[in-house]
Amino acid sequence: MSTSRADELRTRLAAVHDRIARAATDAGRAPDEVALVVVTKYFPASDVRLLAELGVVDVGENRHQEAEAKAAECADLPLRWHFIGGLQSNKAAAVARYAQVVESVDRTALVGRLARGAEDAGREVDVLLQVSLDPPGREHRFGADPATLPALADEVARTSGLRLRGLMAVAPLDEDPALAFSRLAGIRADFLSRHPDATLLSAGMSGDLEAAITVGATHVRVGTAVLGSRPAVQ
Ligand SMILES: *Cc1c(COP(=O)(O)O)cnc(C)c1O
Repeated sequence: MSTSRADELRTRLAAVHDRIARAATDAGRAPDEVALVVVTKYFPASDVRLLAELGVVDVGENRHQEAEAKAAECADLPLRWHFIGGLQSNKAAAVARYAQVVESVDRTALVGRLARGAEDAGREVDVLLQVSLDPPGREHRFGADPATLPALADEVARTSGLRLRGLMAVAPLDEDPALAFSRLAGIRADFLSRHPDATLLSAGMSGDLEAAITVGATHVRVGTAVLGSRPAVQ
């Protein structure tokens, strides 16, 4: 049973690495400029363990309780945990205690709490700012309104314990991802002019990783293409 799951993960992982390599080459980039974060949400720690055996280093989770439990179960593995989900203020410190990278920072209220968690953990936490790609005029449901990014970035950059590393975004469901990611490229150019060292860009998922790599993604977050469909009931 677990052998066949390992085979399945190996095959799907190889296919995703091929997609990344092809997209990077098509964009005139080196394939190793794009890191794969495997999103393991809803899947058991046993899958995380198999992925680690297959060479996966970066794993992503979007729900605090599930992530915290899985990170604890896999504490013996050399993994880097990325928190990619909506962050409640009262959970932010706890997230920073196990996540080496927090990708979904979208408001200044989180900053001090993340810094406290980093201090508890005795290490620095890498921060990506999640920027909303909802078209102008739409309510920004996920991520920071691009207009609020400069202040948020400055706040993270001056907070000890946190390292401002770059941006994260999710393409809206009802729009061509290439269009949304072209807005992201513009937002990123502005952002880099103020924070030239914060070069990471986490964008692209199972369905749109090629479009994200075209605009410069350094990290793609891929769940279903590696692990299969997520269970409907959580
Ligand atoms: C679930 C999730 C992903 C992975 O999505 P897939 O379509 O399964 O590849 C990527 N990013 C975020 C923020 C997610 O919540």
